[in-house]
Amino acid sequence: MASTSDNGWTLDPALWTSTVGADSCSVRAGDAGHLLDWFAQQFHDRVEPVVTYNGYRSTAFNKQIGGYARSNHVSATAIDINGARHPYEFHNPKGWIDGFTAAQRKEIRKILAEADGVIKWGVDFAKGYRDAMHFEIIGNASQVSKVWGRLKPLPPDAPITFPEDGMKIRTRTTTKTQAIPYRKWTTIRVKDTNTSLVTGPGAFDAQVQIHLTGVTPGREVQVRFIEVQPGSGGAKTKVTKTFLLSEFVGTGGGTYGSVSQKGTLVSGRRLRAQIKVFDEGVKIARVDSTVQYWR
Ligand SMILES: [Zn+2]
Repeated sequence: MASTSDNGWTLDPALWTSTVGADSCSVRAGDAGHLLDWFAQQFHDRVEPVVTYNGYRSTAFNKQIGGYARSNHVSATAIDINGARHPYEFHNPKGWIDGFTAAQRKEIRKILAEADGVIKWGVDFAKGYRDAMHFEIIGNASQVSKVWGRLKPLPPDAPITFPEDGMKIRTRTTTKTQAIPYRKWTTIRVKDTNTSLVTGPGAFDAQVQIHLTGVTPGREVQVRFIEVQPGSGGAKTKVTKTFLLSEFVGTGGGTYGSVSQKGTLVSGRRLRAQIKVFDEGVKIARVDSTVQYWR
């Protein structure tokens, strides 16, 4: 009898309950299970809501349902998400479809890439066996732990470390005029059409300089940084964190303000800056941003 599943992980291990969206399932205790839980959460936030979610199947149950003996579900290193919508080709050979839109497929590939390829998608199985609902660990324990060590969320009060190595700098400038509505938080464009300063995972130190016209001398301008989770597949972008706001005041002949923020972003989250003005007819004439980041 086999003692491991196809991916080399032992059968019937200690388990941990992963809850994502509307459902829970058992996954492997430890980093492999945490990574699958992370994946399912990303899927829920960025692809579509998780409605049905299945993981571990015991050797006995797998046998009873006629499942493949070395299935990665038996080592609790595979999950199935929204199976009714994303079928297994072997059970639905005629005109099989994966049930995803092009944008959703693209986002799934992005999430898989963020996990450094240690999770495999069942649509990449051989023709005849493609399994759109299915995601499984293909890395070994040390590969999985390395990825999870990078992806796992930091505790809220963890100190931010800025290693000397691996720092990158991104500078951007736009001189495209942006009209700012009165008394409404508005996201600042940092490139002609782009609003994101940097995308997680990583630590960042961002500075944004803004040149405004139309601010009454002495009147305040507020700027703040926000962290967002971009929506996809029709989902709306969510603000996941709002940093403390900064203020400066209008001066004659153009108002210049500079704001900065340090922090960390988990995978897929983006940093943006927003502005609020208290005059009508204010425009941004120029934005210069510099972001140092480490990942
Ligand atoms: Zn499966």
